[in-house]
Amino acid sequence: MARTLIRGAAIVTMDTQGDLAQGDILVTGDSITEIAPRLHVDDAQVVEARGCIVIPGLVNAHMHTWQTALRGVAANWTLLEYFRKMHAGLATVFEPEDMHIATLAGALNQINCGTTTLADWCHNNRTPQHNDAAIAALQQSGLRAAFFHGTPKPEPGPGERPFWEIPHPRAEIERLRKRHQGEALLDIHAAVLGPHYSTLEVALHDFRMARELGLIASLHQGGGPARTPGGWDRLEAEGLLGDHVNIVHGHALSDAQLQRFCELGMSFSAAAENEMSQGHGHPITGRLRQFGRAPSLGVDLESVLGGDMLSQARIALGMQRSLDNVAWREAHGTIPTTSTITTREALSWVTLEGARMLKQEHRIGSLAAGKQADLVLVRADMLNMQPVHDLVNTVVMQTSLANIDSVMVAGRWKKREGRLLEVDLAPVLTSLAASGRRVTESLGLQIS
Ligand SMILES: [Zn+2]
Repeated sequence: MARTLIRGAAIVTMDTQGDLAQGDILVTGDSITEIAPRLHVDDAQVVEARGCIVIPGLVNAHMHTWQTALRGVAANWTLLEYFRKMHAGLATVFEPEDMHIATLAGALNQINCGTTTLADWCHNNRTPQHNDAAIAALQQSGLRAAFFHGTPKPEPGPGERPFWEIPHPRAEIERLRKRHQGEALLDIHAAVLGPHYSTLEVALHDFRMARELGLIASLHQGGGPARTPGGWDRLEAEGLLGDHVNIVHGHALSDAQLQRFCELGMSFSAAAENEMSQGHGHPITGRLRQFGRAPSLGVDLESVLGGDMLSQARIALGMQRSLDNVAWREAHGTIPTTSTITTREALSWVTLEGARMLKQEHRIGSLAAGKQADLVLVRADMLNMQPVHDLVNTVVMQTSLANIDSVMVAGRWKKREGRLLEVDLAPVLTSLAASGRRVTESLGLQIS
């Protein structure tokens, strides 16, 4: 089995072993075998990593990767404009090849930015061919992925059944699960409407389906009034809530609901930058922390913002610190004596918390012997990083894409010395541009 020795790097494990100012990581096959200050191995390929900080591969817990060819299109839209122009507009003209190229380019960009696991929340899939195209692209990229199978949200035409009355297509999700069973880098889960966006009957159907099939049920919660206000109570009464349920956004939940959902072990994903931009409200980071919990984070929409997860950690951290600091000033009339949240906690949102959301914390999210070899070499000997006084502070606050030197997924290098491997980007970008042009022009969209 192939062995790689990553030698002489500073290592942020996010594990009980703690950080190493200088250490070696031995990778065997797809897994980490050992992490120690100095390892002596004869038969491994040695990668000299002096000047780098190794961190766990980042986990993007929520992204609609199908929108990659529409980068920037929605940058000035509120959530209401986004529903109308994206879901009821641009989304409706996507063909399977549009899904493929957007998902491929989006996934490759995630690797390029240091993400090794992506929760792809795919809800523009009106035919099985759309699903197959998106999944083929995830596989082609080499990223570790969870494909969350969703459903489109078009404006219902005359005589058409509205999307919120349509139960999740169980047969399709079963087809996908059967087809991709046992694949090392791909899981299939359910992106459901939930009580915020569907009728009670649909919510009950979808949550029962997730429970019966052993799927994570992820749903958006927020953005206007809930379609089924009492839906959560019914779902709990039916025993359908638990640690397999993931709430994205969550602003509309009351404190009592949030506390109860934390007790039930449900997970939460925030898309801090997009939530602030589109009008959702403040990310719920601080509200979760008061119940001893934390969010995972997601990019959500590349049609609005950039795909880099460390930026998301930085923005979520800054936003919550701002809220906490203002609250302190209002209560005490002074500047706070200390920060409420550390950079290490922010790094956990894009590593460990993402792993927990995907129920994969035993395999990914930190660097430890026995875990999957998903890791990033952050080049720290550059102008924007030196000098390094604290590894985590530098990683969270200083790192840019220029510092993402190498990325390994399941023991295989996907990026080395600043370049993606095994991919010719020129035809990808040409096809991506053509798809973006076709989709926007088909609706005569004016981008301003
Ligand atoms: Zn979303």
